Amino acid sequence: MDQYAVVGNPISHSKSPLIHARFAKQCNQNLAYSALEAPLDGFPEFVKGFFSDDSCKESHQGAGKGLNVTVPFKEQAWALCEHLSEGAKLAGAVNTLYLNEHKQICGENTDGIGLVKDLKRNGVVFEGKKILIIGAGGAVRGVLQPILNESPQKLVLTNRTLSKADSLVAIFSGLGAISSAGFAELKESFDIVINGTSASLGGELPAISKAIFASSTVVYDMMYAKELTVFNAWAKQQGVDTVIDGLGMLVEQAAEAFYIWRGVRPKTDEVIQLLREA
Ligand code: NDP
Repeated sequence: MDQYAVVGNPISHSKSPLIHARFAKQCNQNLAYSALEAPLDGFPEFVKGFFSDDSCKESHQGAGKGLNVTVPFKEQAWALCEHLSEGAKLAGAVNTLYLNEHKQICGENTDGIGLVKDLKRNGVVFEGKKILIIGAGGAVRGVLQPILNESPQKLVLTNRTLSKADSLVAIFSGLGAISSAGFAELKESFDIVINGTSASLGGELPAISKAIFASSTVVYDMMYAKELTVFNAWAKQQGVDTVIDGLGMLVEQAAEAFYIWRGVRPKTDEVIQLLREA
């Protein structure tokens, strides 16, 4: 049986095995998908072992066909790829690995496509819109190209450490209308506000003015939780009607990886629903 896995450290919290098991059932694909913890100081060896023929002989399982990569290994995965898609080259991090016909390790970043698909699934149009993205870490870097491809009127990037936002603007400025601004400079409302900081994980809010919100603003927090995330709760308090969390992005990025590996596109709605109810 073809072997797939998500690799991270820690990894026990991962929902990816559940998501891919549902996709496999839905698409009649015979595969196994597990969650594997790689040592913090041994990620490259772990990946090479997973894809090697020797490792299948030892484990008496089928060959390792594909890996999803999560925190803290996405940048290391990018560095060890022998072939990267154009999007992955710019993203500087990959979350999906597979071997090509020459047995080279190939990398893709499906996080950004996942975010765009989830927003579209929720009826959001990017073209001609004013978009604010808060944060300049790995997740944000991965979503900039797919969003700029949608032709927004302008994309403003803001970050607690402004120099990191400036660096990303320098990398992506050839792809569209992207600029940076410090937290204190933000005094106008946006059509779409995306929180790509990890502040919500610690129950914190970025120190930003509520002037970024109008009631019609669509607010997206890349983090997901059973309850409203702190950021989305704050946006609601400011009168925002539509707030969305990152659960759909998680499922959509997984669907894109599944498509890369298996050539079949699973339906995401029922899996998102299942995770919401779980
Ligand atoms: P990184 O550690 O790479 O980046 C963290 C970012 O958050 C930095 O820009 C940092 O700013 C900012 N930040 C952290 N704390 C605060 C704070 N208190 N106030 C303001 N800014 C803050 O993280 P990732 O980019 O990997 O992840 C970001 C978020 O995206 C996480 O919540 C993660 O769970 C989520 N995510 C969701 C996915 C999904 O599928 N739904 C996929 C990937 C990520 P500074 O540079 O100043 O330190």
